[in-house]
Amino acid sequence: MMEALDFRCSNEDCGKVTPYSDALDHEKECDKKPIPCTQDCGRYCKQELMELHHFKECEESIFSCEECNATFNIRELDDQELAKEHNCLI
Ligand SMILES: [Zn+2]
Ligand SMILES: [Zn+2]
Ligand SMILES: [Zn+2]
Repeated sequence: MMEALDFRCSNEDCGKVTPYSDALDHEKECDKKPIPCTQDCGRYCKQELMELHHFKECEESIFSCEECNATFNIRELDDQELAKEHNCLI
């Protein structure tokens, strides 16, 4: 009987099977592994979705107004008062 020497990646959506000797290497490079947001918002996100995360939901993302070049934290954009003051946004 062969023993099961293969390692199956535990990251959702990956499930790649590698020999145990390669498992650590794969764990490091697996692009399905949630990693901490590179903008330090405290969330975890898969590497391949990081850009999308920054764009859509990251609270640390900076939005810059194309009209006046003012920059805002994405959080501030939810602020109705600020939105009113910043006329370009309307
Ligand atoms: Zn993997
Ligand atoms: Zn983030
Ligand atoms: Zn503006």
